[in-house]
Amino acid sequence: MSVDSNYHRIISPVLREWIAPAGEKHRSTPVGLLACQRDPLLRQLDATVVSSALYTSPPPPPKGKNAKKAVIAPTISQDAVCLEVCLNDTVIFPEGGGQPTDIGVIHTLADNTRWEVLQAKRHGSLAVHYVRVPETTTGEAALVALAPGAQVRVELDQTAFDRRYDHMSLHTSQHLLSALLDKIQLPTLSWSLTSYPTPCYVELPRGMTVDEISMIQQEANQLALEGRKVHVEVEELDPEARKPVEKLESGRAVGRGLPEDYTGGVNRVVVIDGVDRNPCCGTHLPTLNNLQLFILPHTDALSRSSTTVARLYFLAGPRLINHLVSTHNNLISTAAILSCGTPQVPERVSQVIDDRKNSTRRAEDLELELAKHLASDLVRDMQGVEGTFKKHLHRTDDSGNVVSFLTAIASAFSDVAAQSGAPYLVVLRRTNTNVLFIIGSDEKNVKAIGDGLKTQLGVKGGGKGLKWSGKFVGVWKAGKVIEQVLETAV
Ligand SMILES: [Zn+2]
Repeated sequence: MSVDSNYHRIISPVLREWIAPAGEKHRSTPVGLLACQRDPLLRQLDATVVSSALYTSPPPPPKGKNAKKAVIAPTISQDAVCLEVCLNDTVIFPEGGGQPTDIGVIHTLADNTRWEVLQAKRHGSLAVHYVRVPETTTGEAALVALAPGAQVRVELDQTAFDRRYDHMSLHTSQHLLSALLDKIQLPTLSWSLTSYPTPCYVELPRGMTVDEISMIQQEANQLALEGRKVHVEVEELDPEARKPVEKLESGRAVGRGLPEDYTGGVNRVVVIDGVDRNPCCGTHLPTLNNLQLFILPHTDALSRSSTTVARLYFLAGPRLINHLVSTHNNLISTAAILSCGTPQVPERVSQVIDDRKNSTRRAEDLELELAKHLASDLVRDMQGVEGTFKKHLHRTDDSGNVVSFLTAIASAFSDVAAQSGAPYLVVLRRTNTNVLFIIGSDEKNVKAIGDGLKTQLGVKGGGKGLKWSGKFVGVWKAGKVIEQVLETAV
């Protein structure tokens, strides 16, 4: 494979010597000049192992850390045996520039064995492959097979290439999008290549109008239609000229710049013809040809402690097609449920929601009426009772608002009961939700029954004055227990 091409332009000739030639077993090509960066469509390469070592996985990160990481890279489980393998060159891209690591395969040619590469990472200037050791073999045997000097074929199989193609489509789209946003003074603060199939996003200092969004989308698609060429220029990195990344007042770095731990010495610039020049280590498609770009026509505002940013979501390439197919399928099945055509879906849905609101209101009115009837039944039962009227009233139904229903019965009953002056103690319960109310004419009694139910039934709750309410987990024969506890009241 030629190291120079129309796509990969070497500005500093010395870099040609940095690329480890075929068969080289003593040194690796630095990240910045890897085969996957010289030719992003290359799917396999004959290579030589330069170094290999057993990998000991670090302890898992503390809980909550990394949880917000948008890209889900293939993880290495704690008990997996892995090797860290460096080759003289590779088609497997180690993560960088916001682009996640590739997955892939290494075939050892001597024993015709296939080794799975779970991820690749950049250490300084080196691309390190994390190779899974299958359970059928040992780490020691794997170290022999992948010993320095071993001849291998490193490959992106179909799954790995599809995944990479998706990443490239979105990464190149992000460069295009950020360049167009720069023109209207909207710097990209950061971006996220989210895991398939969710839309990716750029973060901007403010939200955008629908007009702005549609203008940017139109421009982007015009450039895609023209098939603007993309190429990469590499030159020796001048450490003096290495500018610190521009930072906002909040301390957030503005988009671009080389990672501080990069030691490969290559300054790599990705150029979209006539549109953008941007330092980046990612793999980029050679043309915007197939890059229909779709921007979701809204931005989400996010408030962080010190600053507010807006997210603009976008899709392109295969992920865009997938998005269109799945949203269309969702729309079709929704239309089928609603028995209407797809254009009528929004109208039908709002009709259904209105209907539902009306029926909820009707049900609430009826419940209120029912509550009054139940309360007057209680009042009737109370007539002629000697001493404290004790009653456990439970209903099995699944109305939405349990609490308001019980409250309605309680207040309708207490009003009448209080007027009569007769002592009472009533437990109201909705059986399927296990919510209960205690109402009574005597504060001490109410509290005593509440405490009794806490211990006997594990009810969680509390009360004040003549009311007590709580909830518990369903218990066999709860009704019987409640009645027994009620009996204990004086
Ligand atoms: Zn980039």
